[in-house]
Amino acid sequence: MMHDKDSTIEAQWARVRARLRKELGDSAYRSWIKPLTLIAVEKGETRLAVSTRFVRDWVRSHYADLIRTAWATENSAITAVEIAVQTATTVARSESLAKPEPPRPAPPIPRAPEIAVENGEDFGAALDARFTFDNWVVGKSNEFATAAARRVADDTKATINPLFLYGGVGLGKTHLMTAIAWQIRRRHPQRKVIYLSAEKFMFQFIRAMRSKDTMSFKEQFRSVDVLMIDDVQFIAGKDATQEEFFHTFNALVDQNKQIVLSADKSPSDLEGVEERLKSRLGWGLVADIHPTTYELRLGILQAKAERSGVQIPPKVLEFLAHKVTQNVRELEGGLNRITAHATLVGRPITLESAQEVLHDLLRANDRRVTIEEIQKRVAEHYSIRLADMHSPRRARAVARPRQVAMYLSKQLTSRSLPEIGRKFGGRDHTTVMHAVRKIEELRASDHSFNEDIELLRRMLEQ
Ligand code: ADP
Ligand code: MG
Repeated sequence: MMHDKDSTIEAQWARVRARLRKELGDSAYRSWIKPLTLIAVEKGETRLAVSTRFVRDWVRSHYADLIRTAWATENSAITAVEIAVQTATTVARSESLAKPEPPRPAPPIPRAPEIAVENGEDFGAALDARFTFDNWVVGKSNEFATAAARRVADDTKATINPLFLYGGVGLGKTHLMTAIAWQIRRRHPQRKVIYLSAEKFMFQFIRAMRSKDTMSFKEQFRSVDVLMIDDVQFIAGKDATQEEFFHTFNALVDQNKQIVLSADKSPSDLEGVEERLKSRLGWGLVADIHPTTYELRLGILQAKAERSGVQIPPKVLEFLAHKVTQNVRELEGGLNRITAHATLVGRPITLESAQEVLHDLLRANDRRVTIEEIQKRVAEHYSIRLADMHSPRRARAVARPRQVAMYLSKQLTSRSLPEIGRKFGGRDHTTVMHAVRKIEELRASDHSFNEDIELLRRMLEQ
């Protein structure tokens, strides 16, 4: 037995920390890495604990990859890192820690490079630990894609093949694919799953060609049970890669192996991709992830806020869900910034402080709805002339829709009251303020009016 001191898990952990310190610098190291306690290393997973959820989530979302990579360098058997909340005396509920005992170092595990190869870490990519079905929020816009993903994850017979997921940036394609991979690894650990981006696929392919080793490249990919390739649009215009991909694809489908793909467009809309490949890509099930609805965005924020353990007023979450509409990554980023800020300055979060912290993010999202669009939509909705948005007419039939448009301009853009007033035929900012108050009052007292406004707002946010 070779139990020299350096091979103990504790010694490895010390080296991992040293590595992270070098990589992150002293201050980030002290804030986020130093508080971590090593709990156990088991079945290729390192379990770490921290004392608060906030630190856990922060570390998970910012440093999990780095920590995993550092561990894998020390000990190639490690393929996952789990971070849990553990206070001095109790183990937080719902955490995945198996034993409610005080931290104790686990026995060293032997180096087992095969495991890494088994899991495809050598030529695949590491899976993000947060991207599981547990952390996935289902809504109207993604329910079909979710159902398809769950089916593929549970089905060992590849009845849906390939599954092709597509949707815009930041709508959860990578999350959903990764969730499939985690689920398969958990339920069917003997199945060999490889997840990688199309870019990485190409990179591996080129490297194999350069080292004249395309045989082992082919074998690697053709020996898997589940091949997942993310962001397939990347192979557009890359003919040799497409050719290789096409053959890999056919070989796997012939053996009834599962394939899961993602892209930002449907197969038929992919430009610069050969026709025969396009048609193959669309053979199985094509499921698209639609732009998020307000309800889904709010649901995602609520789930995340709950996990972070930081108190965030519902109004702030609603505000974010209304304002950051296009990209869930940005939405989460906004929430992270608000919680980080609140924790650092130690003051409770308010709508005002949130707006301040997110100033630039809100501006960037605002550009999408303009006052002109709001005026046009609202005029159409109430069947008045667009010109009446600017006209001095005061008849209720035009004045009320105009107030609605002013109100929505205040809500959906970051224009100031005077700026809004100018766009409505040079009205004074007090007129806009009055309109905003009036509409708020009506929304509170008149249910059907309220629904009307909500509908308009949603249409404008699409
Ligand atoms: P894409 O690959 O489509 O660009 P990602 O899968 O990277 O998008 O998702 C961006 C971020 O949004 C990730 O942090 C992901 O966890 C989160 N996200 C997107 N949709 C959902 C959802 N329905 N539930 C929970 N998180 C989501
Ligand atoms: Mg992605």
